[in-house]
Amino acid sequence: SAGEPAATVCTTCPYCGVGCGVRAAPDGRGGAAISGDPEHPANRGRLCSKGSALGETLDLGDRLLAPRIGGRAAGWDEAIALTARRFSETIARHGPDSVAFYVSGQLLTEDYYVANKLMKGFIGSANIDTNSRLCMSSSVAGHNRAFGADTVPGTYEDLELAELVVLVGSNLAWCHPVLFQRLAAAKAANPALRVVTVDPRRTATSELADQMLPIAPGSDVALFNGLLHAIETGGALDRSYLAAHVSGAEAALEAARGYPGERVAALTGLAPAEIAAFYAGWIGAKRVVTVFSQGVNQSSSGTDKVNAIINCHLATGRIGRPGAGPFSVTGQPNAMGGREVGGLSNMLAAHLSLEDPGHRAAVQRFWRAPRMPERPGLKAVEMFRAVAEGRIRAIWIMATNPAVSMPEADAVRDAIAACPFVAVSDITAETDTAALADVLLPATGWGEKSGTVTNSERMISRQRAFLPAPGRARPDWRIICDLAAAMGWGDAFAYDGPAAIFREHAALSGVAAGLGRDFDISPLAGLSDAAYDALPPSRWPAGPEGGRTRFFAEGGFFTPDRRARMLPLTHRAPATATTPGYPLRLNTGRVRDHWHTMTRTAKAPRLSRHIAEPFAEIHPDDAAPLGIAPASLVTVESPHGRIVVRALVTDRTPPGSVFVPMHWTAQWSAAGRVGAAIPAATDPISGQPESKAAAVRLGRF
Ligand code: SF4
Repeated sequence: SAGEPAATVCTTCPYCGVGCGVRAAPDGRGGAAISGDPEHPANRGRLCSKGSALGETLDLGDRLLAPRIGGRAAGWDEAIALTARRFSETIARHGPDSVAFYVSGQLLTEDYYVANKLMKGFIGSANIDTNSRLCMSSSVAGHNRAFGADTVPGTYEDLELAELVVLVGSNLAWCHPVLFQRLAAAKAANPALRVVTVDPRRTATSELADQMLPIAPGSDVALFNGLLHAIETGGALDRSYLAAHVSGAEAALEAARGYPGERVAALTGLAPAEIAAFYAGWIGAKRVVTVFSQGVNQSSSGTDKVNAIINCHLATGRIGRPGAGPFSVTGQPNAMGGREVGGLSNMLAAHLSLEDPGHRAAVQRFWRAPRMPERPGLKAVEMFRAVAEGRIRAIWIMATNPAVSMPEADAVRDAIAACPFVAVSDITAETDTAALADVLLPATGWGEKSGTVTNSERMISRQRAFLPAPGRARPDWRIICDLAAAMGWGDAFAYDGPAAIFREHAALSGVAAGLGRDFDISPLAGLSDAAYDALPPSRWPAGPEGGRTRFFAEGGFFTPDRRARMLPLTHRAPATATTPGYPLRLNTGRVRDHWHTMTRTAKAPRLSRHIAEPFAEIHPDDAAPLGIAPASLVTVESPHGRIVVRALVTDRTPPGSVFVPMHWTAQWSAAGRVGAAIPAATDPISGQPESKAAAVRLGRF
């Protein structure tokens, strides 16, 4: 009866890419009791501080509950009709590439699928990009170069089965806490499991490390080129694996020969003895997993860093075997779902290639699409530059806050403000980006919407609704389909729910598998609505190879000749040089208890108890000459912007660098918006911005 608590619902945490299973028991008053799902393979009942506080983030205080046009409340029909008209008029006058969607890893796979289908197949532009560009696009590009597909070869279990786990540019303890807990538990049970961290900063993760390598920012390629050279000189090449499954080894080895130990020491700032110890440990451990995250990805040489790591695993055949492989751990709950549907401007759907005419034709046939773009669209940084320059004249931003999170955030905010038409769909109007919208569209949030997400180990899990949609909020997939219908394509977007979208997505993956691609969930294309609703966590590929958990131990890469590629790589310094005027490196990252720009986590007071305000970690040697006292206010300034935060004087951060967290926005602390100070330098292949190596100066406020 009304008001009686409903049954417990199994769903998935909306925060990080670990993708933990959550049980939610609604209390009948709009809240829910939250616990870890003991049956979910990612977390086996564990939750971190953020996940366990989810029940405290469900109130409707700041929610956007009805569409708004120019600040006034409006009906859905009017808001959708206006958005459709402005998009259609812009396309008619300026062509399909004059419009764009900027989407988010917070979207569910079904939302992402229809957004990508609408932009690429019906509007006919590839201008759909995502905040995932800021997160893992270097890993995608590195996987594609080495494997011919964006395939993560291993699983979380590999961290527990390894003899050596190397964590590169990853504060796993704070950013992927449950995976860190699994690693810590495995190490406690097996003290022979060694952990090495590669990170300029000393972090909570370092506490688990047997060896810490505080490398100079941006020097990972030198470190792993040196490792590849040591593998060769140490006689550790797996020559039979190389002969059977890998191309490009000789060129990669030749490039690596330019990185003897003393050169690696000079470039990384590490002592020769600690480099030698790391190399000996890596070479000596047959089961080694090299985990990499944002310190690798968010770099102007991010793609090369990924390939430098993969080179070492290919050279030793340590890939796709229990406890061995390169492992990308990425940011958002839908770590991989967006990639699977092609929600990046340079991808198609189902891991098919936009630039392959055969792939394009197959998707166009499948969608019965009137048109398809033939070249990649604009990547995030380019997209907002095009907005600033008037080349993009209508943009729809879904579930993300680029006026804060993009590099050169002030310029991005100004560009959005000046864009002739901006639609924003989100759960709240209280973001810096929503404040700039012509049309605001209320979306359902976690606990209210239904669909799937894919975590960092290829595990597809259901997010299930356990609360009603508040006010007039609608699921993202439905808002997108409503727009498609208003633009004249209702037949192709006539889904009656996320299950129907998922079936189509799964069927398209079968087309892709027929073209030799890795992503295959075609056996799920026949799921009934009830079976979709009951879908247990399922790792892809599903089907004839179902139960297969790892890729590439016996080769079988997704390049035309089925061989992996090793690449010759060269160390490059960060794109922005430090100068006497801007002598310090600005590193950015997360804190333990907050998520992104805090639209959800700020609602749980206990999550602000750990760290309540933005800060700058400054080494005592940098603070003293400037007269910066602990806990005083300081300015951190680049040529692009300036922030004011509290000084945290500590030797956790090395001399010559400053660490500032990324979460605080104008809503919480106008002066702590660190994106304003970061230059929009990007990796030339992935387009991922370099968020961890800006040149800045410090001052007393
Ligand atoms: Fe959620 Fe990640 Fe924490 Fe798991 S580790 S509960 S997915 S934030």
